[in-house]
Amino acid sequence: MKFGGTSVEDSAAIGRLVDIVRGRLEKKPVIVVSALSGVTSELYKIADLASKGEFESAVKILSSISARHRTICIELIPEEDKFRNNCLEELTSLMDGLGEIVRVISILTELSDRSLARIVSYGELLSSCLIFNVLKKSGVSCAYIDAREFMITDQDYLKGEPVIDEIKRRVPGLLSGELLRHGTLITQGFISSSKDGIGTILGRGGSDYSASLIGMATGAEEIEIWTDVDGVHTADPRYVNNTKSITSLSFEEAAEMAYFGAKVLHPYTIQPAIEKNIPVRVLNSRRPDHAGTLILPDNKINGDGVKAITFKECMTVINIFSTRMLNAIGFLNRVFELFSKYKISVDLISTSEVNVSVTVECGIDLREIITELSAFSTVTVRNDMSQISVVGKNLKNLRGTCKNVFGSLGEYQIYMISQGASEINLSFVVSRSDLGPVLHTLHNDLFNK
Ligand code: ADP
Ligand code: ASP
Ligand code: MG
Repeated sequence: MKFGGTSVEDSAAIGRLVDIVRGRLEKKPVIVVSALSGVTSELYKIADLASKGEFESAVKILSSISARHRTICIELIPEEDKFRNNCLEELTSLMDGLGEIVRVISILTELSDRSLARIVSYGELLSSCLIFNVLKKSGVSCAYIDAREFMITDQDYLKGEPVIDEIKRRVPGLLSGELLRHGTLITQGFISSSKDGIGTILGRGGSDYSASLIGMATGAEEIEIWTDVDGVHTADPRYVNNTKSITSLSFEEAAEMAYFGAKVLHPYTIQPAIEKNIPVRVLNSRRPDHAGTLILPDNKINGDGVKAITFKECMTVINIFSTRMLNAIGFLNRVFELFSKYKISVDLISTSEVNVSVTVECGIDLREIITELSAFSTVTVRNDMSQISVVGKNLKNLRGTCKNVFGSLGEYQIYMISQGASEINLSFVVSRSDLGPVLHTLHNDLFNK
């Protein structure tokens, strides 16, 4: 069971978590927690301030993080209870450790990826310590295991690639015994460690991925992602009105949605579930009785057609054109070798013999790759673009998909279209300023008619 930031954000949310866990004790759940909502972003901010030597400003945020956790501890654990003192002492010791790192970085004004990973991992260390003590005080027999003991990644400190074999090797020994002894255990999402014990993280939103990796390695019956919406919706309810919760999705559909921007799941969440055919359920911790969305193996899901709209708001379109390459073998190869060389991940591609258009996420430094591409082609770059994807089983083979999708979008300029790479996704690019109206129109047209 993974609880995201909003599902642990305050005393009320953690109270709900305890009730949800109590209702599932007979299943011997592994509880995976995120940092309290907003804390990870604050920790990034603290690291940034420290790297500029702005220690006093960093300390202000540190103090408010500390106060927030202590207040919840005091609100949820009565004074006479031994777990209150345990909790406050452990929180103090964690905050002291973090304060020390921030102080040193402020003096050195130097922040490596490794130090940044260390700083931001405190969000989950604090939340798991707090929630562990609250669970114990509530009479839940629970073990605590530091995820860095089993969630092993390569040495990419900020976006560690899980070493699956190592995780599979470590998890049963560490987790199963504790589960048998205590009935349940709590650990952190997001944080991990390299084989030689240096702290890494899985990247933003990574707790979902942690949960599904643990689900895979323990052979769980189900992976539950508890969040702040009634499951996966037909579009992001924060951007689009009248979205509906989707009852069931196939692994492929859910993975495609996550990969193409549906923030409700980290892009890699579904991969580990596929390996062992483990159902994934997305649930609302504010409305635990709602059935949410059940994500199942592809052969268990019937029903073709559009299921959802996802988007990536900030994208760049790179157009690479070269008439000299007409009839020349190897143009595409040359182009994509460069993307690989600069480790730039390409989202959509559309090609003709002399032209390649690709989308990449914005914020990537493109100067060097453009210089190299320009040696054999004419490169144009469009910033401030948005990418929209329509996802659903067997879209490619259904008649009328394009008409249904583009029929209502006549007044908007479409810069690029890509279909067919996957049977279940039709993606296109509009200017960022059109994103809101296009999403609204498309959603209305596809789901509310
Ligand atoms: P958590 O802290 O629980 O991990 P996130 O904020 O990462 O929560 O993810 C939940 C949010 O994902 C929702 O509040 C919603 O705004 C957003 N979201 C984006 N696309 C979708 C979608 N298709 N269905 C549901 N939620 C979505
Ligand atoms: N706390 C981390 C983040 O905010 C991981 C997560 O919540 O999934 O990115
Ligand atoms: Mg999330």
